[in-house]
Amino acid sequence: MPEPRFPRRKTRQLMVGSVPVGGDAPITVQSMTITKTADVDGTLAQIYALKAAGADIVRCTCNEREAAEGLAHIVPRSPVPIVADIHFHVEMALAAIEAGVDCLRLNPGNLRKTEEIRLVARECKDRGIPVRIGVNAGSLDPRLYKKYGGATPEALVESAQIELGLFAEEGFDDVKISVKASNVPLMIEAYRQLSEVTDHPLHLGVTEAGPPPAGTIKGTAGIGTLLSEGIGDTIRYSLTADPVEEAKAGRVLLESLGLRQRTNVDLIACPACGRAEIDVYKVAQEAQAALEGKQIPLQVAVMGCVVNGPGEARSADLGIAAGRHRGHLFIQGQIVRVVPEDEMVSALVEEAEKLVKEGVAARLAAADSGAAAEAEADRVALLDARGADANHSEQRVELIDRRLRDQP
Ligand code: SF4
Repeated sequence: MPEPRFPRRKTRQLMVGSVPVGGDAPITVQSMTITKTADVDGTLAQIYALKAAGADIVRCTCNEREAAEGLAHIVPRSPVPIVADIHFHVEMALAAIEAGVDCLRLNPGNLRKTEEIRLVARECKDRGIPVRIGVNAGSLDPRLYKKYGGATPEALVESAQIELGLFAEEGFDDVKISVKASNVPLMIEAYRQLSEVTDHPLHLGVTEAGPPPAGTIKGTAGIGTLLSEGIGDTIRYSLTADPVEEAKAGRVLLESLGLRQRTNVDLIACPACGRAEIDVYKVAQEAQAALEGKQIPLQVAVMGCVVNGPGEARSADLGIAAGRHRGHLFIQGQIVRVVPEDEMVSALVEEAEKLVKEGVAARLAAADSGAAAEAEADRVALLDARGADANHSEQRVELIDRRLRDQP
């Protein structure tokens, strides 16, 4: 695990099945299935796909009797802990508990009867099942909406605190909290205020963020801002897309903030420019598709030219740069092989697999001894062909001089 760069706010810890949330536990990624929960095999297939994409915990709706029955079959076969999503009906909460779920999510805006909330708290306490109090700006308790004149940060926090108070009266405090909104500044402020008044673990999310890329950007703006302030113990992107995209986005966000050990490839690529010798977008996409799912925890670079590529991507574990219809394969900036252009992606994948298995020192030792000289020859030839100074700067400086001299 990389050194945490953001001091994390101290929270208490609870267990969602076998996964710790809060305290010093790694920040976890959540997502939600979009299948009918009664469709046991379809839901399990989606849960497995979510786990492969980076989800640590998965939520399924429990909105009807058939869904609760489905959960009874899903829970024992799921590779990750299962949270049942409960709105409106206390019976569904009780049924989900009987199904053996690892956590309940209750929406205080939709399940409002005090006695019902207390009943669920007592049952969860007896069975050792944690609860997420999932406040949502869009379904805020109307009484609070009226009191605050809208879904303000204060209203969202108060909603969570009222529910927390009822749980506390039942002696139940195995609780994590979310105060989600689709408005990013509102969501950020609500979580900031909440983190000041409770040490319960916080589940972060921008709700109803919409389809990617805008939805992903909104989620990242809200979740990333709070994580960088040390707030948040578990996260979920809410995207109008295949939920696998949510899990991926959560994993990539945590990896890019240094909050999660990389388990999959991080493909970087240059943006391409006039020097590019290949279609960078196409090769980068092919490389991403070929490497994804291979559990290769490396940063891999695809660079459009050999003139600047290996140097610019020196920090990558492995990379390939194009030049004169060939690919220069490099490890940490050092050229190890030169391959024909149409073998660039397959050579990259092969080298990535060997690098994971054998390590950097062994792969550098196995480098093709003539590769560096061949690569340098390509680089020099390209510089000669295009000029070291692609912008013709000396001529331009002369033009600038002339233009300024001619000014009245
Ligand atoms: S690596 Fe080469 S092609 Fe890519 S942006 Fe840099 S100079 Fe341009």
